[in-house]
Amino acid sequence: MANSIIIHGGIKEFENLEGKESEYQKALHKIARDSYEVLNEKGARAGVLAAVSALEDLELFNAGTGSRIQADGEIRMSASIMDGKKNIFSGVINIQYVKNPILVAEQLASEKNSVLAGEPATRYARARGFENHNPFTRHRLREHQAAKSGRGGTVGAVALDNDGAIFAATSTGGTGNEIPGRVSDSATVAGNYASLNMGISCTGVGEDIVNLCVAARISTRKLEGLSLEHAIKKTVSEGIEFGYMFGLIALDENGNTFVDQTQGKTLYAAVDAQGIRTFT
Ligand code: ASP
Repeated sequence: MANSIIIHGGIKEFENLEGKESEYQKALHKIARDSYEVLNEKGARAGVLAAVSALEDLELFNAGTGSRIQADGEIRMSASIMDGKKNIFSGVINIQYVKNPILVAEQLASEKNSVLAGEPATRYARARGFENHNPFTRHRLREHQAAKSGRGGTVGAVALDNDGAIFAATSTGGTGNEIPGRVSDSATVAGNYASLNMGISCTGVGEDIVNLCVAARISTRKLEGLSLEHAIKKTVSEGIEFGYMFGLIALDENGNTFVDQTQGKTLYAAVDAQGIRTFT
């Protein structure tokens, strides 16, 4: 087993990149490298948390600060993390005014109720010491006022460490302009999943990802004997048949990383002992 991490910043076609492709690439490069260091020192859980919280903190990405705005002018964020070894999924849905939704999701992994939604999720975060943080940015406000939301955007990370632990983590600001209260795939087992022998984080149209239960479906196929590559290919081709739009990053128990999508280009970076590779 070798330390390995893969991260993503959504699908290019959803991001209104406006010539900013190299900025995305640079950011993903740096965060992948930094979080690989964390992974080496502290393991897979710390690695994915470092990656996703750094992506949440960058205004460029649609998660945490810089999240897209819902139809009623509010930002509601969703995030989840799964521990593949312990088989524990935890998450927050439509949480507001916290800096790093992924850290609240992580905190919930040790509670008896591990997924919280809406206002009580925000209240839970406050009670646990997560301070009030304004995630609005000028860029998103302009976009919202022009009713020019993109179609989504999400960040995620999957990592394997030397102890064989696999973690998957995903965080999103949703699609922008959605009906207030809409539930994204990102804090469900359709959008984020890990088991003993794989981890996966999805991006794209949340409704499509939930309809096909993409992440858990691929995990089950792998558990039942398909290679991860084959399980992904089969599921992506089912998505194409339905005309769905989603992408994903994944990693297996040997640290092999995979990226695929039904259409478009997933913005990713992956690092292991061999070096770094990113989208081109
Ligand atoms: N999956 C996210 C959502 O539907 C958006 C995205 O990944 O682009 O909320």
